Amino acid sequence: MKKCWGHTHLFVGIAAAAVIAQPKNVGACAVVVLGGSLGAIICDIEVKSNKYFKDVYYSRITFGAMAILALLFDFLMGGVVCSYILTNNWLYTLIGAVTFVTVCLFGYFSIHRTFTHSILYVFLLGAAVGLLCKPLALSFLVGAVMHLVLDIVNKKPILLLYPVSKGVCLKWFTADGVADKVFLALGIVGSIIALYYST
Ligand SMILES: [Zn+2]
Repeated sequence: MKKCWGHTHLFVGIAAAAVIAQPKNVGACAVVVLGGSLGAIICDIEVKSNKYFKDVYYSRITFGAMAILALLFDFLMGGVVCSYILTNNWLYTLIGAVTFVTVCLFGYFSIHRTFTHSILYVFLLGAAVGLLCKPLALSFLVGAVMHLVLDIVNKKPILLLYPVSKGVCLKWFTADGVADKVFLALGIVGSIIALYYST
């Protein structure tokens, strides 16, 4: 089975978001988990092909479970995400939501590792998330940037400078290789340590 490093992206995204956003309390950890994992997973929104699907499918389930738990936690603990969205300027919410959905739809129907793996895509979605829920934006951007970084070290090129059609990749690792497991382990351990020691 070909792999897309689904869970690796998720946990490396969360670990990097925790290191950079430095959540100071348990509530802020929910922001990091939600933002970092959303940014990490959304760059593979276009993956539909059967040869990649299982890997990405399972990581989407993991993301969904983590996102629901983080949102629930945020809501019950009176965290910043739900309260920000509920009290946000409706115009910002509207523009953010329309931009987010439009960019995601465009990404969904694009070719694998093209628009969704570009600086343009990350910038547009980061701006949309910032309008929707500013506290999530930093973690989201870190999660998405780390996705691109991990894919660049892989064998298959990504169109980082889309619409420029020249692909970028360092060819250090193959997607099916041992590097996936190593980065996954680093991501999980890094997430736990970063979240534990920053609070
Ligand atoms: Zn990718």
